[in-house]
Amino acid sequence: ATRTQPLKQHQIIVCVRKRPLNSRELSKKEPDVISVLGQQQLVVHEPRKHLNLAKFLEDHGFRFDHVFDEHSSNAQVYAQTARPLVQHIFEGGMATCFAYGQTGSGKTHTMGGEFSGKQQNFRDGIYAMAASDVFSTLSQAKYAALRLRVSCSFFEIYSTRVYDLLMEGKPQLRVLEDAQQQVHVVGLTEQLVQSTSEVLSLLELGNSLRTSGQTSANATSSRSHAVFQIVLRCGSQRQLYGKFSLIDLAGNERGADNSSADRLTRLEGSEINKSLLALKECIRALGRQSAHLPFRASKLTQVLRDSFIGGRQVRTCMMAMISPGLGSVENTLNTLRYADRVKEL
Ligand code: ADP
Ligand code: MG
Repeated sequence: ATRTQPLKQHQIIVCVRKRPLNSRELSKKEPDVISVLGQQQLVVHEPRKHLNLAKFLEDHGFRFDHVFDEHSSNAQVYAQTARPLVQHIFEGGMATCFAYGQTGSGKTHTMGGEFSGKQQNFRDGIYAMAASDVFSTLSQAKYAALRLRVSCSFFEIYSTRVYDLLMEGKPQLRVLEDAQQQVHVVGLTEQLVQSTSEVLSLLELGNSLRTSGQTSANATSSRSHAVFQIVLRCGSQRQLYGKFSLIDLAGNERGADNSSADRLTRLEGSEINKSLLALKECIRALGRQSAHLPFRASKLTQVLRDSFIGGRQVRTCMMAMISPGLGSVENTLNTLRYADRVKEL
């Protein structure tokens, strides 16, 4: 149902991006069932040429902080989502930005950058745009005095296992919680960086490690969460000052209804569901300023614990990616309902 009350709680931004129909969908003449109405609303409708939008809006209309249509660019999405969060980490806050949606909906395109053939142009992805803004903010006089150091981490969560994407061989890392309930990913590479081009090299390295493995590249990356972090530290003790986590989540589609799906695939699927559920609950708890966050319910939320709690200002942006075709409508509705729930307090 369309939300009528104004959206509150600006520490949580929820937006939706619709991608264009792809060549496969176009060649099958798949109808586009998503209409974006203005900058905050969209409607999921039946594939009809002449439809009464007002009627459908009641049943299948959604309102978000921002809705981006198929003509939007990564730069436009970035400006409304991650860019304000860069400022936030310079004020000593913690920020997270999630790309959520079914496989093929545009998560990696948005976060990592546009593809030309098999090559990905990291320069026009949200990871690199955020890094670039971090360096330009760093050079402003009021921040230069803080002598902040910038570093990056990049890791993958596959089922309950964590792998370092900035270390050759992609070693598995342990996650430990200390007596102060601080969560540590033991041995995670935190690479000092001084320019956007250094960050681009790290993204290329991480991406090449992410998509290598025994299983086919696409299968692996669609079933794992990729977490890219920009960390600001200060002082001789290299104290944590602010952190921005940008996350390309595992595909949210339900794959286990396929009878040929093997046991391992089903187990992975249930682990993904568990983590996406825990994520939603953690963000909702954050919005309600509830003391109880179920961050231990999944590896994803556990490693992001310090971005949900920790006495610091916390901000989150959820970007839900949707495919426009009729063939994806069930997954699209699931994605929109999830995004809607994240925002609803
Ligand atoms: P996901 O990471 O969600 O599985 P991808 O980002 O890999 O999906 O996108 C699937 C395909 O769709 C890619 O070929 C990508 O280039 C294309 N694509 C995704 N979003 C857009 C967009 N907004 N504009 C043009 N092409 C897009
Ligand atoms: Mg992807």
